Amino acid sequence: KLSQRLGLLLEQIPQGSKLADIGSDHALLPLAAVQTGRAVSAVAGEVNPGPLRAAQKAVQDAGLTKRISVRQGDGLEVLRPEEADCITIAGMGGALIASILNRGLLEGKLEGVRTLLLQPNVGEDILRRWLLDNGWVLTAEALLEEDGKRYEVLTAVPEDPEAGLTNKGLYAEAAMAGGERPYRMETLLNMGPWLIRQPGPVFFAKWQDEISKLERIRQSLSRSELESADNKRSEIGELIEEITEVLACLP
Ligand code: SAM
Repeated sequence: KLSQRLGLLLEQIPQGSKLADIGSDHALLPLAAVQTGRAVSAVAGEVNPGPLRAAQKAVQDAGLTKRISVRQGDGLEVLRPEEADCITIAGMGGALIASILNRGLLEGKLEGVRTLLLQPNVGEDILRRWLLDNGWVLTAEALLEEDGKRYEVLTAVPEDPEAGLTNKGLYAEAAMAGGERPYRMETLLNMGPWLIRQPGPVFFAKWQDEISKLERIRQSLSRSELESADNKRSEIGELIEEITEVLACLP
């Protein structure tokens, strides 16, 4: 059975997609996508030989070698032009996902791609920043907790001003949810322009934990005499204040 995390990703794959799942490991997601008809075909990319073999075996065992092509390679280099219209990258850090996307972009691998489904384990802000800087608009964000871990699933599509899909619009609207003191861009990139407007118990728990973590860092910095530690400490102080304020504003 698919984990809740992969299930959430699966739900976001548009019906009839040509899917590419990068860092596919056991190819669980492309298998489920093809088996449920969400994807008509899929490429499962893997850079490491162990997971690559696991993916090959899983696809063979399912009798789906004609529909799912398992390929070894780094990031999006496994893709031929216009081969995929939906790309999933899950279970890695946000910085790594952003660097995979960036290299793919430079190599023209994002042409024809209509949906990016990303599940960063950490560094969500870095990924949101990359999307913003490169003309991808978040259309949905989900946050879930499973087996004691929290995950974010981000859905993005290319900006389309005619359809009213712009980052300017998205972030302006999200900022206004802050009320008298609109949320700052930094806050929205950290917490998520959709998540901040639909906060559930997992969102609260995540940011309470983040505050505790920042408090611990601030305390350890206060034992340092360095001037740079002083700056860092006040930076962290501001961040704590800001998160606290956001949480206080939420219903
Ligand atoms: N995507 C699956 C999931 O979410 O369950 C597997 C996640 S697993 C933690 C990360 C996988 O990404 C590993 O199998 C690793 O080999 C692969 N990986 C890491 N960097 C990669 C890259 N640059 N290109 C392709 N695969 C990569």
